[in-house]
Amino acid sequence: MLYKSNDTGAKEISAKQQSLSKNEKEVELSVCVLASGSKGNAIFISDGFTSLLVDAGFSGVEIERRLKVRGIKPEDIDGILVSHEHGDHIQGVGVLARRYDLPVYINKKTLLAASSQLGNIDNKKIFECGSSFIINELKIHPFSISHDAADTTGFTVKKNKVKVGIATDLGIATSMVKEHLKGSSLLVLEANHDPEMLSNGPYPWYLKQRIKGRTGHLSNVDSKKLLEEIKHDQLDHVILAHLSSKNNTPDKALYEVGLSMADCNTKLHVATQEKCGDMINLF
Ligand SMILES: [Zn+2]
Ligand SMILES: [Zn+2]
Repeated sequence: MLYKSNDTGAKEISAKQQSLSKNEKEVELSVCVLASGSKGNAIFISDGFTSLLVDAGFSGVEIERRLKVRGIKPEDIDGILVSHEHGDHIQGVGVLARRYDLPVYINKKTLLAASSQLGNIDNKKIFECGSSFIINELKIHPFSISHDAADTTGFTVKKNKVKVGIATDLGIATSMVKEHLKGSSLLVLEANHDPEMLSNGPYPWYLKQRIKGRTGHLSNVDSKKLLEEIKHDQLDHVILAHLSSKNNTPDKALYEVGLSMADCNTKLHVATQEKCGDMINLF
């Protein structure tokens, strides 16, 4: 199955081999950020045969609705990868896992910290940060990121030569994080706050410190610096994610991060809380 845009801009699923003309390049991975922000996060990623969610941080019903908006049947999901136990990443995990009998890929510490929120999960697949694993033809590499949760994880998902890097909810981009994200065709990268808006904004002092700290969230400026280091010719898309509704705006994030990308052909997108993102196909 291939997730493909039709002429009206709506998304439809068509049989993979049937829909490919001779000269058309084959889609390796399709990515759609269903929602991103402090009220809920979920990313759909598929090679057309295996479809995964990275996090399911809002209600099961709303995730189902957003999948359907993009022409995806919830029954076609094959598993959920969990980044960490904060509610905005796991709220719908237990519900969806039970409703569709899905395996949940999670590390040990996160599972312990999340157990009461997840409820009963029959099919748990425990991974360790730093150790790759395979789901059908997808190669998943989980890696540690610095955040105030038990064992927060970033992911790369690879199909053949096409790699997707996902890192939201991190206070600093360590050299290890940069190494993992290098060579991606698409990055979902945190651009949480504009430092000035955060400083002058409504949050109490302790919360501002938490967000700015090493286990908090990346600012627009942090993301810009990270991209300056790891951008390359094959980086086709960057989706800025986990924007704060109080301390950032999509325009500010796009402008700031765009400063580092002016000399390349990478498309910059912003994921929002309210609207399901576009389906992006990678070749
Ligand atoms: Zn979060
Ligand atoms: Zn978090």
